[in-house]
Amino acid sequence: MVDTHVHLEFPDYEGDRDAVVARARAAGVKGMICVGGEVPRNRMIIGLVEKYGGMYGAVGMHPHWASAHTVGEREWVKEQWGAGRVVAIGEVGLDYHYDYSPRHVQRRVFGEYMALASEVGLPVIIHSREAFEDTIAIVREHGGVRGVVHCFSYGIGEAEALLELGLYISFCGQLTFPKCAEVRAVAAKVPLERLLLETDCPFLAPVPYRGQRNEPAHVAVIAAKHAEVRGCSIDEVVTATTRNAEALFKIRVQ
Ligand SMILES: [Zn+2]
Ligand SMILES: [Zn+2]
Repeated sequence: MVDTHVHLEFPDYEGDRDAVVARARAAGVKGMICVGGEVPRNRMIIGLVEKYGGMYGAVGMHPHWASAHTVGEREWVKEQWGAGRVVAIGEVGLDYHYDYSPRHVQRRVFGEYMALASEVGLPVIIHSREAFEDTIAIVREHGGVRGVVHCFSYGIGEAEALLELGLYISFCGQLTFPKCAEVRAVAAKVPLERLLLETDCPFLAPVPYRGQRNEPAHVAVIAAKHAEVRGCSIDEVVTATTRNAEALFKIRVQ
């Protein structure tokens, strides 16, 4: 399994990060993409990638922090790519639910990182909440950029439009929440060859861990839920999503 979206750089793991990584490995997680999105966390990710085998890095500017973005940070991200330290740019995108940064700033910063991804050929990890139209418009402006829309929260029509652009889709713990039937209905329709697994830990722990700190080992629960809603074996989900992660991020975990 590959957990394509972890935040092990968060202070939540300060006391027991080694144990969390060990539990992930014991649960069959062979690769993890540790995803940044603001200046200090981007720096920490480079350190974690150097420390742990099977850990890969993504650095970028989350829409929440878009106001704090500087040209210098974008240059730093490009340097990490040049040094071969990262496998993706992320997370980047638009979040109109929280609106922590003004929307026009979010759009500008997202566009700048899409342009960088296009320039260097890295995939993007996209965060998009309540901002579908603007998200897809910016993706279309940078045609050919590969990537994933993570923690997918839109409907089937939106999923189809993103799939048509060649993007991958992944789902967080909502997949297991009793009230989130629509998330499961959408997940069941995403072709297996476009699905990725993620936890988005420490957030959104799946049932039966809901409300607790999430961790990469719980991605096994997400894989099992996908198998259940699709009516296929867990093995099929794991094999396909691992292959997808290897293809998108150009990594080799098997
Ligand atoms: Zn996100
Ligand atoms: Zn995230």
